[in-house]
Amino acid sequence: MPGRRPGEKFDALRAAAARTANEELARVAEREGDVVAHLHEARPFRCECGRVGCCEVLEVSVAQYRAALESRARIAAHDHPAPDDEVVERHERHVLVR
Ligand SMILES: [Zn+2]
Repeated sequence: MPGRRPGEKFDALRAAAARTANEELARVAEREGDVVAHLHEARPFRCECGRVGCCEVLEVSVAQYRAALESRARIAAHDHPAPDDEVVERHERHVLVR
């Protein structure tokens, strides 16, 4: 994996915490209005890689985030997937991993 340092630690709890924060962000955005265009605006979601020390913010729309949830994938920065993650989709600013 490019950009990976040996001994880098990943933690499922960290990934879950990022997911919880992101789900709340998506819920809040959806409460703000249900205009379709609004859900396609990029918003700052947290990287869900679970890497210890990761504080990457990803510009993802609520619609994209919902699609990731529906496909049971996590969002992560391009060079952040853990060694046992499978990259299932590549987007301009993030990837979906499982
Ligand atoms: Zn990350």
